[in-house]
Amino acid sequence: AVALVWFRDDLRLRDHAALQAALKAGLAPLPVYIHAPHEEGTWVPGAASNAWRHRALHALDADLRARGSRLHVFAGDSGDVLQSAAASTAASAVFWNRRHEPAVDQRDIALRRRLRALGLRADAWSSGLLFEPWQLETRGGDPFRVFTPFWNAARRQWNPMPPSPAPQRLPPFEALPGETGIDALGLRPAPGWDASFWRHWTPGEAGADRALDSFIEEGLHDYSAGRDLPARSLTSRLSPHLHFGEITATRIVARLADAGSVEERRAYVRELVWREFGRHVLHHFPHTSEADFNPRFNDFPWAPPDPRLLRAWQRGRTGIPLVDAGMRELRATGWMHNRVRMVAASFLTKHLRMHWLHGARWFWDTLVDADLGNNTLGWQWVAGTGVDAAPYFRVFNPVLQAQRFDPQGDYIARWIPELRGLPPRARHAPWLAGAAARGHIGDYPAEPVVDLAKGRAAALAAFEHVSAGR
Ligand code: FAD
Repeated sequence: AVALVWFRDDLRLRDHAALQAALKAGLAPLPVYIHAPHEEGTWVPGAASNAWRHRALHALDADLRARGSRLHVFAGDSGDVLQSAAASTAASAVFWNRRHEPAVDQRDIALRRRLRALGLRADAWSSGLLFEPWQLETRGGDPFRVFTPFWNAARRQWNPMPPSPAPQRLPPFEALPGETGIDALGLRPAPGWDASFWRHWTPGEAGADRALDSFIEEGLHDYSAGRDLPARSLTSRLSPHLHFGEITATRIVARLADAGSVEERRAYVRELVWREFGRHVLHHFPHTSEADFNPRFNDFPWAPPDPRLLRAWQRGRTGIPLVDAGMRELRATGWMHNRVRMVAASFLTKHLRMHWLHGARWFWDTLVDADLGNNTLGWQWVAGTGVDAAPYFRVFNPVLQAQRFDPQGDYIARWIPELRGLPPRARHAPWLAGAAARGHIGDYPAEPVVDLAKGRAAALAAFEHVSAGR
């Protein structure tokens, strides 16, 4: 008998619970992928995600072929495709791994009902998280709203599943009616748009493994101190691989078991648990991918969206070097260092006072690791509107941040060639560097789009207006 194994954001063969479930039940797994962006609610995958997915699907297909199988690819309504694929193969079961995004969860619940009504076994399995999003709760049985107690609870209940191996061989199947190919899904962006990405990334399970190996060799030993320095490559860069499920948190934790020191390992695992916290929050408060977690901000006087300013931010032309370097790193590689994400997001939401959704949507379109749980958590945290948020009145000063975390201006110079001719310390705030130095910056903005002190004061005044109106 056959089980359809429906691949979604779990593009791997190791530690794949749905695939293992089929094998354990003695069923022949038939790997299915369905392109259905219209079922993703308001967060339809963006251009950078699609570019990654295109390559990750090819990598998965190659891995399946090496084991005698292949990926059966469709486009259309997931329910219709699964129903017809099950009928044409006389399948008795459909298995998948969970995704934990509100719109998709709703769809999956409806689908499971529909498939079960047809007499099929339809089951969702763990996606390789350390904890299911509903598993940890406060002593009072409530969801967590603050990270540290969530982390403490995670440590108390620490018991991750051991990862399972990839199957050696899988059975082949004939083509099914309605099948199409990966290249026909239209996932590749306009020619050249993503060309510079692939110097930095190798989508797929093997690429994820190599990224983890090099992190263990080169980054882990200095992670807790080094993870804030954007000029250095001391973080794991596993975020897109984790988002697309090319590697699981449980597998990373197992691989780390005998690597590095206890302190560095713990610092890293804590970040993985931040990712779990994002899923926990989205599970319990599904509206927060669209709306402020803290209703006090419903009346916040956000500045009316100014397309000129938004564009300057998106293009890395605000005149604030650390912000612009980050936005250019994003455009060139599909990724931005976490410290710089915080600074760029703070500048948009505080100094320019734009609603965080403007930034979240741009990140969504341009990040290869765009992830609803993490992106929502990150933006609402910085904006001060979310769970466990940095208070709104704490405004990052992007010049001080640059002085502290990019003291030689190396990161700035890497992404803003116009500023390479300036002495290192002048790169943090070229408008203060004197006319002679400023003669060397080409067409880089001579002045920031907003005066930092005025922008900060306006943000704080707006915030007081909200707190007073409570
Ligand atoms: P490492 O430092 O090596 O961390 C390992 C893993 O832990 C990451 O791959 C990630 O899965 C998780 N992680 C690390 N930091 C965080 C964090 N602060 N919150 C949640 N999980 C974390 N991350 C995304 O994966 N997708 C997003 O769309 C996203 N949007 C963000 C938006 C903003 C405004 C901010 C401030 C942060 C955002 N992050 C997002 C979190 C973080 O910046 C990235 O996960 C991290 O930079 C990825 O690089 P890395 O894999 O080298 O991280």
